[in-house]
Amino acid sequence: MKIIMLGAPGAGKGTRAAVIAEHYKIPHISTGDIFRANIKEGTALGLEAKGYMDQGLLVPDELTVKILLDRVAQDDCRDGYVLDGFPRNIPQAEVLDRELDKLGDAVDYAINVDVSDEVIVDRMAGRRACLKCGATYHVKYVPPEKEGICDKCGGELVLRHDDAPETVSHRLKVYHEQTKPLIDFYEAKGVLKSVDGTGDVKNALKDIVDILG
Ligand code: AMP
Repeated sequence: MKIIMLGAPGAGKGTRAAVIAEHYKIPHISTGDIFRANIKEGTALGLEAKGYMDQGLLVPDELTVKILLDRVAQDDCRDGYVLDGFPRNIPQAEVLDRELDKLGDAVDYAINVDVSDEVIVDRMAGRRACLKCGATYHVKYVPPEKEGICDKCGGELVLRHDDAPETVSHRLKVYHEQTKPLIDFYEAKGVLKSVDGTGDVKNALKDIVDILG
């Protein structure tokens, strides 16, 4: 099963992608996490990506598409995957379609996590991410057991540069201009599904299984 998560930054794509990955036993692939891992390791790719990410801009397609295609070509992706943060614009979606088409394959579902801009702004301010494993929390809505510490790996939780308020408004602008058109793109292909992103994350699995079966 090949699933794409759509939605504004902070809509809850990552949380739901993780639930889907666990339930359907497929890898959860986040291009944002791949970039952050590269930044942490100090690779040339990480250095280049960081400049764009810190400004709330998209990393150029030449870099992003290659990384994604390399990742989905790995063995663990044979039975499918859930993509979280890719595609982010129509050209990326078209490349993915072309590559899948070469394999006689296609995206099965694009799940749009629907949330208003006002809710996004409120959420991002309280979002915290683990420096070590990338898990995300929210000080109010999804707090870790121990303040500032990741439940999963014990890493330190921080406000990411790209979740800072001034960056968030850029990211929302980029979302509306470049990423939102993907809703119509996948609707036209008949694979679009929508979930209410303001619902309780505890019901995320039920919401998704209701849709995907
Ligand atoms: P995310 O964790 O998905 O919100 O991604 C964080 C940042 O990484 C984004 O704001 C972009 O700068 C960059 N990024 C992640 N995925 C992509 C993508 N598919 N295309 C371009 N930039 C991306």
